[in-house]
Amino acid sequence: MMPELPEVETIVRGLAPVLTGRTFVDVFILDPRSVLGDDIVFQRDILGRRVTAVRRRGKLVVCELEGDLVLAVHLKMTGRLWFTPPETSPHSHTTIAFFLDSSEQLFFDDQRRFGYCAVFSRDGLRQWDYWATLGPDPLQIAEEDLAGRIQGRRAAVKGLLLNQRIVSGVGNIYADESLHRAGIHPASRAVRIGWDRLVFLFRCLRQVLEEAVDAGGSSIRDYRGAFGEHGRFQQKFAVYGRAGKPCPVCKELLCKTVVAGRTSTFCPACQPLLR
Ligand SMILES: [Zn+2]
Repeated sequence: MMPELPEVETIVRGLAPVLTGRTFVDVFILDPRSVLGDDIVFQRDILGRRVTAVRRRGKLVVCELEGDLVLAVHLKMTGRLWFTPPETSPHSHTTIAFFLDSSEQLFFDDQRRFGYCAVFSRDGLRQWDYWATLGPDPLQIAEEDLAGRIQGRRAAVKGLLLNQRIVSGVGNIYADESLHRAGIHPASRAVRIGWDRLVFLFRCLRQVLEEAVDAGGSSIRDYRGAFGEHGRFQQKFAVYGRAGKPCPVCKELLCKTVVAGRTSTFCPACQPLLR
């Protein structure tokens, strides 16, 4: 399970108060595959830099550094950022260890090595293709604006929700949960969904994401917050991972299908398919 908007937001909210104002006094790169670009340049850019802000964009953790540099972290499948007390030993999957002037540490762990850390100048960040094409944040723009981005598209609505260029931060869990709440089948073509229902979908998406942020995200296998804590939203899933179990709304048994290459769980009664 890949961390999505609520999980990354939880990490950012955990890190912001403890990391802001701290300076990186040392960096150990235990596996250079976790660095996007040259690991020697990365180390040189980070060393001696103070963190001025920690924020999120889409699924990225963004640490702003003095000197107009930005440290961007994408957790991908199994990446974790841990803030640890002084002298904590790296974990078996730690690939980068950041040492702070407070003697505390920030570890980047990544069992499957798909995640990465990257340092950019402000200009370099703007030119980074992933950054430049990232769609708007569903917590920050109006439902009508998001609905307008998919209105009339012939693709399956779930594939559009997962497309980071259309809307950022959404993955399999929160796509399935918001589609169920909105009563829309994941394979329905956007062009067949009425305007009011499309707007309602993005209202449901916002509600689901906000509830998940309040619950500290969802912990299924890998995800933990910045201090190793579990999220609690998995206890509230209506459909994700619940195929064969009763729909919490109508008690019909939930079904599983594949849409846009991803396993999708839905209620055949609450979410009729519009071809
Ligand atoms: Zn149902």
